[in-house]
Amino acid sequence: MIPVSKVALSEAEKTAVMRVLDSGLLAQGKEVEELERQFRGATSSPNAVAFSNGTSALHGALHCLGIKPGDEVITVPFTFIATPNSIRMCGAKPVFVDVGDDFLMNPALVEQAITSKTKAILPVHLYGQPCDMDALRSIAERHKLVIVEDAAQAIGAAYRKKPVGSLGDAAAFSLYATKNIMSGEGGMVTTPRADVADWCRRFRSHGQRNRYEYSELGYNYRMTDMQAAIGVEQIKRLAEITEARQTNARALLKGLAGIKGILLPSVHEGRTHVFHQFTIRVTPDFHLSRDALQQKLLEQGIGTGVYYPQALHLSPAFRELGYHTGDFPVSERLSREVLSLPCHPHLTSAEIQTIIEAFHHV
Ligand SMILES: *Cc1c(COP(=O)(O)O)cnc(C)c1O
Repeated sequence: MIPVSKVALSEAEKTAVMRVLDSGLLAQGKEVEELERQFRGATSSPNAVAFSNGTSALHGALHCLGIKPGDEVITVPFTFIATPNSIRMCGAKPVFVDVGDDFLMNPALVEQAITSKTKAILPVHLYGQPCDMDALRSIAERHKLVIVEDAAQAIGAAYRKKPVGSLGDAAAFSLYATKNIMSGEGGMVTTPRADVADWCRRFRSHGQRNRYEYSELGYNYRMTDMQAAIGVEQIKRLAEITEARQTNARALLKGLAGIKGILLPSVHEGRTHVFHQFTIRVTPDFHLSRDALQQKLLEQGIGTGVYYPQALHLSPAFRELGYHTGDFPVSERLSREVLSLPCHPHLTSAEIQTIIEAFHHV
């Protein structure tokens, strides 16, 4: 069986976790500090604040940029539910705009979604490719909005040579077990703003300024040193992990080219895609449905994933926003057509050949 993703731990992670256990200091401490230092380096960002997961990192980034009840935040319905949920955690309202054929927020649709209540734009670098940040930044500047990057899937990606995490007012990363680099569960906020970083440090720890001195509401959103120790070993291998994914993606692009009805992912000029997912589209021109193709591949020992099977404006969880079928046609179509193939760093060239042959066989 070739799994769609695979957690790979080396001896280095095991040694690092054992070192933390032996130290007896398991909660947030030196390892978290080291992971934050590594993130500052990897994202060219002056500040990095570790969180318990990517969702709490998104919540922290939005809250500490001042998003509050009554505000509106523009985001996309074609993403993981944590993206719009983090907006609701601030008491604010998610306002959706559709994505383009590239799976990313369509900047041409953003301006018409802005109201007097809009405070922020939350674009998602889905599957590991950065959004059109020049277009989004010029809209944000014109309307005095902040930008929070949902960079959960995009550590190591870049837009015009600038790393993801340094492209907005803040960014949130996830270190969940299947992300490009991981710590089991974990998250990180990067921001150019020292005031936002300071607030994030308090926010993740009950609003604590000094020991037992609390300045405002906060949560327990801390990462442990055991998790951070894993993350540190992972991020040291970021370049290697990213290159392996990109090499696998190139091989898949070559081997799967020219199949009628299958659309392959493309990379925009000036952007570095880190292929958190290698996602194809199974269009009506293909002789099988997406789900039938997924089943056939499974029968041949190839695991695949559908990220995501429902555009979130149609989820019962967002019923109160009052959206309907047809409101975001591209997202709705993509939710029926997308299929992610294995692209993880531990894939062998023989396994990639197996995937390619399975397609030609089907
Ligand atoms: C994984 C993910 C998150 C949330 O991260 P967790 O660490 O699982 O809380 C947010 N947004 C996107 C796009 C993600 O893929």
